[in-house]
This record gives sequence, C-alpha cells and structure tokens, in this order.
Amino acid sequence: MRTVRVAIVGAGPAGIYAAAGLAAAGPEHGVRVLVDLFDRLPTPYGLVRYGTAPDHQRIKEVVVALRAALAGPGIRFFGNVEYGSDLKLAELRQCYHAIVVATGAAADRPLPIPGIDLPGSYGGADFVAWYNGHPDVPRDWPLTARSVAVLGAGNVALDVARMLAKPVAEQAATEIPDNVARGLAGNAVRDVHLFARRGPADAKFTPLELRELAESPSVDVIVDPVGAEVTAEEEASIGRSRQRRTVLRTLLDWVGREPTGAPRRIHLHFRSAPVAVLGGGWVEGLRTERTEPGPDGMINFTGDHRDWPVQAVYRAIGYRSTALPDVPFDDAGGVVPGTAGRVVDLDQLAVPGLYATGWVRRGPVGLIGHTKSDAAETVGALLADLEVLPEPDAPAPEAIIELLRVKKIDFTTLAEWDRLDAHEIALGQASGRQRTKVVSRIAMINGGRDT
Ligand code: NAP
Repeated sequence: MRTVRVAIVGAGPAGIYAAAGLAAAGPEHGVRVLVDLFDRLPTPYGLVRYGTAPDHQRIKEVVVALRAALAGPGIRFFGNVEYGSDLKLAELRQCYHAIVVATGAAADRPLPIPGIDLPGSYGGADFVAWYNGHPDVPRDWPLTARSVAVLGAGNVALDVARMLAKPVAEQAATEIPDNVARGLAGNAVRDVHLFARRGPADAKFTPLELRELAESPSVDVIVDPVGAEVTAEEEASIGRSRQRRTVLRTLLDWVGREPTGAPRRIHLHFRSAPVAVLGGGWVEGLRTERTEPGPDGMINFTGDHRDWPVQAVYRAIGYRSTALPDVPFDDAGGVVPGTAGRVVDLDQLAVPGLYATGWVRRGPVGLIGHTKSDAAETVGALLADLEVLPEPDAPAPEAIIELLRVKKIDFTTLAEWDRLDAHEIALGQASGRQRTKVVSRIAMINGGRDT
C-alpha cells in the first residue's frame, strides 16, 4: 500500500480531527496516511487548553477524545516547533506530500476607535491567554480597576465578564495556575459593564453560557432597560431559532433587576456601540453611541453619546487568524483562502499539496464540535487529490526528526505531554484543584521542572 505523509500545522481540535480523519480514511482510498502534527506550544489541544475558561471543565473533557486520536496509529505529535521560524514550508514539502494548516485564530480582531491603545485597554484574547496560563504572556495582569467595560456580545465577552466578576474562591476547584489565582484574589473590580452594539435579540451568546453568568451568589446580573427593547423585525428575525429565543427570554427576564447587594455586578447594555476609549495616560472612561436597527441587518448610529467612567476596557469582539509565512492569506477576511479545504492563491488557483481546516479556514465562529465537520471536508479534498500530490524528496518518517535535531529544536512528543499532564493533575490534587497548569515554557518542556 502506498504511504502518504501529511504534516498538520496546529495541534488544536481542528488539526487533531483532521489527523484522525486522514489516518482512518486513508485505507478506503488505498493508501496508508502517516500524519505528523506540529504545534508551536509544547502541548497539544490549542484553544481547548488556552481558550476555554478554567471553570468550563465540562467543555475541556473533549481532551479525552483528542488524546485518544493523538495516540492513534500513524499519528505523531511534535510540540514546541514553530512553523515559519523553526520549520519553513519548503522544509515541510521535502518530507511530506501535503501540508494542512490548522493554526486557528488566537489574536484579537482590531477595533479602530480613538484611545483603543491606551494603557488599561486590552484585547480579550490576551486576557483569556493570561487566565489560562499561556506560556507566552506576562505572568501578572493589572486588576486594579473598580469599573470595567467589556465590549462585544459573544461567548468570549461572557467568559471575560465572568472571569472578572466571579470571586476566585468559586474557581478554586478548576485548573487555574497559581499566578492567576493570586492575581484574581487581588482583583478590585466591583462593576463590569458589557456593551453590545445591537439589541438583545441579536446577541451572539449561547443559552447555557449566558445563564451561567448569573450562577455566582457573589454577582448580580442586570440588563439595562435602555436599549433592551425588541422591535417587531428583530423578533421576527429570530424565526425558529430556539437558541436565540432562549437567550432573548433570559435577557428580558434580567431587565431592570434590583441588585441583591452582592459585592459585584455585571451590567449588560444593548444598542451601545463603543466609539472612543477616554483618558490621558490611562483608561478613564468609555464613550458609547446609541444605535438603532438599520436596513439589511445593519445598525444606524444615532449621535446619542454616553460616557462611562471605567478604568479598564476589554474588547471581546471576535478573534482573528494570523498570516503564516509562504501561505496565502486573505487579509480582509482574516482567513487562509480556499475552497473545500484546498488553499488557493491570489489568482484563485489551488496551491498543490496545501490545505486548511478549522478557524483559520472559515473564520473564528462556532463551537469545538463544528471543527469536526470542517476537518471531514478538508480530509475529503486531500484524499481526492492523492494522484496529484507533489512527491517529497525525503518521505521517510525519520527524516523530519533528523531535520529537527540538526536544527537543534527541542521538540516535545506525546509521551512528554503525558508526563506533563500527569504532573499538572498531581499538582492540582495537592491543592484541591482539578489541575494546576505549569506556565513556564521551559518547565512545560521539562515535564514540570524549571531547569
Ligand atoms: P462572536 O460570537 O462572533 O461575538 C463577537 C461579538 O463582538 C458580537 O456580539 C459582535 O457584534 C461584536 N462585535 C464585532 N465587532 C464589533 C465592533 N466593531 N464593535 C462592537 N461590537 C463588535 O465571537 P466570540 O465571542 O469571539 O466567540 C467566537 C466563537 O467561539 C463563537 O462561536 C462562540 O460561541 C465560541 N465560544 C464558545 C464558548 C463556550 O463557552 N461555549 C466560549 C467562548 C467562545 P455583531 O453581532 O454586531 O457583529
């Protein structure tokens, strides 16, 4: 049976689902597919480990299935290998018939309004990376603001608002790293204001995640009545979507609620678009402008401004993928362009042997499970192209290991991840948590030791 070698760049759910799909479906196409997954982090699982909030352990349970896939026949994991600097496309092409880009979307979408770069104005993705113990972000996060603005009405905005408002004691049993537990313990916040530029019928929240916001006894959740009205057109646009209807009902139940006296409050403000971050040397406020529904799902700005005294602003208005060296990138859409998983160049011509899957291909929307169907399409395209894949010069599985060694790249393997995983769980058990994440990259590579 012919052997086909595939490199997947990015070992998050998208990459792992594609690897499993290729390894499983190869024989039906008369080939044995050997897949190597590369990740710039020493650990697998991408945004499951570094994007999903630590108190969402249920969502993180997907790692059991992802670990099983990684350990499957014909699949290898190489962590701590950065595409572009450690390995270039040309080098991958020497060893593999095909390359699949599955690098996700981990950066913040920019918000070009005055003052957005003031100190105290943060990208939500950076905060998410901090509270998840990402090795490449600073260990300390300034949590001195008493009033905070969160921009956006999606699940990331909910995560950011909840992580800011929920007392650290209620997160004790999760997997937050020690530096994050210490940081959150000193959090001065009292009021978190979440601003949505549309009305409540158009919020992008999902029902479970929204209701969870109000589960903490230490947090009152209040919807500002101003802007919370629902027009007949908005009501009609919900159609048969049970999810949107449940979200709307929950939000309307919270309109004008009286605070119970809980120490912290989350206020949700609708039809309030952020137009400027105010302040001199540091964030002192946020200016919003009232919106109303416009034609074709657009919004109109009304000229009605309001200033909110806040000392920190977190924008959670969506993620964005980052361009990769030697891989086409659609800057406007923030994705690798392609059709059915095949990457295309600026002339819309398929680039031989180059594929993409997950958020980097279709944009940063959808839950983890959605990347599975996405991967199936990319796998199907690659296997349909078997006859035209470029032949590599060095297809032997040892060739890439030799290359990494020559380049002195300190790569990690699945066995090393398993050791770190066990170490983190043991550390967590010692302090009553599900896991205590190791944050330093060196310690991650050395199974938990900092030297
Ligand atoms: P999202 O769901 O697309 O929400 C982005 C929000 O930002 C929208 O409300 C959007 O408003 C708003 N926005 C965009 N540009 C804006 C601007 N210029 N000014 C003001 N607001 C702006 O994205 P996300 O929250 O990053 O989530 C990404 C995906 O991950 C989603 O599918 C989400 O469900 C998923 N996720 C799931 C969980 C979970 O716990 N299950 C947690 C995190 C993320 P418009 O609607 O007006 O564009």
